Amino acid sequence: MAANKIVVSNPIVEMDGDEMTRILWAGIKEKLVLPYVDCPIRYFDLGLPNRDATNDQVTIDAAHAIQECKVGVKCATITPDEARVKEYHLKKMWKSPNGTIRNILNGTVFREPIMCRNITPLVPSWTQPIIIGRHAYGDQYRATDVRIPGNGKLEMVYTDAEGHQQKWEVNNFTTGAGVAMGMFNTEESIRGFALSCFQMALQRRVPLYMSTKNTILKTYDGRFKDIFQEIYEHEFKQKFQEAGIIYEHRLIDDMVAYCVKSHGGYVWACKNYDGDVQSDMVAQGYGSLGLMTSVLMCPDGETIEAEAAHGTVTRHFRAHQRGEETSTNSVASIYAWTRGLAHRAKLDHNEKLAAFCHAVEQSCVECIEAGQYTKDLALIATRKETVERSEYLSTMEFLDAVRARLQPKFDALMH
Ligand code: NAP
Ligand code: MG
Repeated sequence: MAANKIVVSNPIVEMDGDEMTRILWAGIKEKLVLPYVDCPIRYFDLGLPNRDATNDQVTIDAAHAIQECKVGVKCATITPDEARVKEYHLKKMWKSPNGTIRNILNGTVFREPIMCRNITPLVPSWTQPIIIGRHAYGDQYRATDVRIPGNGKLEMVYTDAEGHQQKWEVNNFTTGAGVAMGMFNTEESIRGFALSCFQMALQRRVPLYMSTKNTILKTYDGRFKDIFQEIYEHEFKQKFQEAGIIYEHRLIDDMVAYCVKSHGGYVWACKNYDGDVQSDMVAQGYGSLGLMTSVLMCPDGETIEAEAAHGTVTRHFRAHQRGEETSTNSVASIYAWTRGLAHRAKLDHNEKLAAFCHAVEQSCVECIEAGQYTKDLALIATRKETVERSEYLSTMEFLDAVRARLQPKFDALMH
């Protein structure tokens, strides 16, 4: 049978997940991947029951496997809270698998919308994707965040390895209580972030903008700006020129204003807090969570992990458990597979595999543009508040519709 499939010589890492996306994931693999591609797969079950059974070792093993294979594709997973600990009788409130994997791979997450003609963004000028890269380390997310009880002096002290101290006065409180925060980042992490952003822009052949508030935080944000500039000059300037793309630092205010009036088609490197806020703005602006992809890019530019930006779609899973029909959008999960396999294709110089990935993505977009879509997109495309059952496809009907459009493309490719 392998003779009728695209042969892939190097492995990818597959990470299974939870709830509705676990069902989508199995359907995608069975209908759109395995019949066409003969690829060695290192499978890790990151579903919550198995994370609990292995004391989360499976997540760590999966991350190390990605480092070896350089390609990972991941299904959405539950990040447990109190309610999940009860529901799944967990030994512990395990950490977010995405966080664990990101910490081991030291990568940056880039979110990118999938564009279709009939799913018009809320911002009409956005005709091309805006890819947001969020620095996922430090700043407000690791800050020491405290209340100041009353009058007194707040100081910041740094002690070096030899015990020498440096001291800064932060504020002399004279009007009573207040609040304060101690925030940091490391040059190592900023460098990794910068490298991932330059690599991403280069791979996509689109400009890179990085935003800071360096007019106010001259030292802190200034360091971000300088490190990016330094890496650009030393490692990327020539490659960017050859690719016909540019790099620019922008003040965050200017960047936000530019973003809303731009046509898209660039990577926006955001500091941690800006990325948290702006990625939700951009995701909503493009229309649907079901059409938002997420790629973790490592500083080496060689290692990536791809997944959907949305979660496990719990509400749909509950309906599925009750035996009801579901209409859950699988496009972002399909793109997790195609973006992962396309990276495999690039590393291996496997042109057939690259063409196949493109054909799968094209088939998804063709379906949507022809009105073959799930309910979430039917609502957007028709601009109605409710839609009839005849106006959308079920979860599995959509996968079959994509497969029907893919088959002739695959046959032509193998001919
Ligand atoms: P969610 O799974 O993204 O779903 C939120 C809502 O968005 C859904 O109820 C649905 O709206 C809509 N939606 C999202 N994806 C959709 C799709 N593919 N097709 C159709 N509609 C879609 O977020 P959540 O409900 O807040 O979180 C559920 C679980 O996912 C949590 O346990 C969380 O820890 C986990 N999570 C994981 C990841 C990850 O692994 N990367 C990311 C985020 C959350 P309607 O109900 O209105 O149809
Ligand atoms: Mg946010």
